[in-house]
Amino acid sequence: MAHKSIARLMVKPASSFSLKRRHADDTLGWEKEAAKLDFDELIVRLDALQVKLFAEHKQSLLVVLQTMDAGGKDSTIRNVFGPLNAAGVHVTGFKAPAGSEVDHDYLWRLHNAAPRKGDIGVWNRSHYEDVLVVRVKNFLQKERWEKRYRHIREFERMLTDEGTTIVKIHLQISNEEQRLRMQERIDDPLKRWKFRAGDLEDRKLWPEFMKAYEVAFNETSTDYAPWWIVPADRKWVRNLAVARIVLDALEAMDPQLPPDDPTIAGLTVV
Ligand code: AMP
Ligand code: MG
Repeated sequence: MAHKSIARLMVKPASSFSLKRRHADDTLGWEKEAAKLDFDELIVRLDALQVKLFAEHKQSLLVVLQTMDAGGKDSTIRNVFGPLNAAGVHVTGFKAPAGSEVDHDYLWRLHNAAPRKGDIGVWNRSHYEDVLVVRVKNFLQKERWEKRYRHIREFERMLTDEGTTIVKIHLQISNEEQRLRMQERIDDPLKRWKFRAGDLEDRKLWPEFMKAYEVAFNETSTDYAPWWIVPADRKWVRNLAVARIVLDALEAMDPQLPPDDPTIAGLTVV
């Protein structure tokens, strides 16, 4: 059971979900100052559970982050996962495939980056690019990408069956918020490195991307690997919602410290 404040962010499997019914600037009824305190508390709890997950070494958590350019993936990762023990968190970013990646099927590089037992894997972009940008920009003909929703469901099913809990999060920003953030990237010399001229081309395709996202959510939000749509125009709402979703997932995994070795308890170190 998801925490009540975020339960409605999930895309119910087989529900004909529409992005228009969600609002990127939603505050979820939260207040900024209180939300910051809640966030700090959740991070402490996340940290304690991650230690257990790592010590248990039996299951893993995969967090998939997908959004438009300037949607806040990097900042979410820094805020929510940055405070955790870096030894147990592995972040992988997926750019346009290159080198040996193009010589394999599209899921190969993803499988290779799937988290080990005890780890939290965070994907900054993912296999969903293969049904989003690939579809929108016609990198492949329809006969190729339309089968991928099924591949993806089956791939995620397999990972789940083998001990990985999958949480898929879409950071929903508005078109206007993207415009503001892109302009800031252009105007601020310290942020300019994040901007590519090609980002403007993708921005022009906003309606096509929204359509492709909607189809992907409807095709791939399953009971074993659901999508969560997080309102992300406000960073404090986004951070708290993501922390809450990840914490819920870890609590449901209920990692346990390994049993005590009976020869150790009571020993005195001299
Ligand atoms: P960024 O995350 O801003 O560094 O940008 C990465 C770029 O790589 C984005 O434009 C993505 O659309 C693109 N990308 C990621 N995965 C794929 C893929 N499988 N096929 C084509 N482009 C991709
Ligand atoms: Mg970019």
